Amino acid sequence: MLLTTDEIMLFLMRNKVSKQNIYALICKLNTFTDMKIFTRTAAIHAYLSSEKNAGKTVGFVPTMGALHQGHISLIRASRKENDITVCSLFVNPSQFNDAEDLQKYPRNHDVDLAMLTEENCEVAFLPTVLEVYPPGLETAVNVDLEGLDRRLEGKFRPGHFDGMMEVVHRLLQITIPDKLYMGQKDFQQQLIVDKMIEKLGLSVSLEVCPIIREADGLAMSSRNTRLTQEFRSRAAVINQALTAIAENFDKMDLSACRQEALTTIRHAGLRPEYLEICETESLEALETWKSKGQHVALTAAWAGDIRLIDNVVF
Ligand code: AMP
Repeated sequence: MLLTTDEIMLFLMRNKVSKQNIYALICKLNTFTDMKIFTRTAAIHAYLSSEKNAGKTVGFVPTMGALHQGHISLIRASRKENDITVCSLFVNPSQFNDAEDLQKYPRNHDVDLAMLTEENCEVAFLPTVLEVYPPGLETAVNVDLEGLDRRLEGKFRPGHFDGMMEVVHRLLQITIPDKLYMGQKDFQQQLIVDKMIEKLGLSVSLEVCPIIREADGLAMSSRNTRLTQEFRSRAAVINQALTAIAENFDKMDLSACRQEALTTIRHAGLRPEYLEICETESLEALETWKSKGQHVALTAAWAGDIRLIDNVVF
């Protein structure tokens, strides 16, 4: 008889085994499942090439690990549409502009592998930095992003999008997927990846999946685990402020809406870095309303020393 993760969790928690140890154990128990775990680029590339030659389709979900239900929604979308789903767990140093953020980024491969196993993900890829960036290999990507990378996140996280494009491009070369799955949570990121795919003529289609939220509206993020209890409860204000903008569309002046959202976030004790109402394709900041569906309100705000991002399309 096979027990589900939840059943095993419940049994072990009743017996006072820590959650961490439980996942480590589940991961070990799961080694008899069919998920293939690769750490070497040559090996995963050879495997996926031969599967593709045999007619299988591949969906790819790049992540930095510390998986949550947002990531899992991408895995599920990919599994619905492809024969093989590949999930990479790789904290990419080249996209961090802040050394402390990189060092403190949550890492928990045992839990991640247990979650992927439970989702019946076919392939997990956990490369080292040297596997992704072998010495001597030119991995930087140079494309004209038509200013997309200079706005919003680009202004506050210099080099972030260069590193992000570098890793996504490299991982696409390694995993040769038919479809690439990314979240709307990182709105600017998916626009940039889409532009990169178009400009480089890559043969992969980008599928963008909706934002998965906690019950109070906070967008799920690996960084949420680092919020203090106090800031965790206050952080729901981010989504409330953005949703209020969407609700007031066409009823209130655009810049008044924006100011009100900034004030709401500040009153909750968070520090917004930016909050803009932009056009969904160019990300140019808007001064007046456009037609329904053409706006996205985006923000980055500090909750203590944790930087959170979110957006609402309306
Ligand atoms: P990360 O591990 O943060 O690099 O995220 C990996 C992928 O998961 C990216 O495409 C994200 O946009 C996506 N993602 C992260 N959080 C969420 C969420 N709350 N809902 C949907 N997708 C998400």
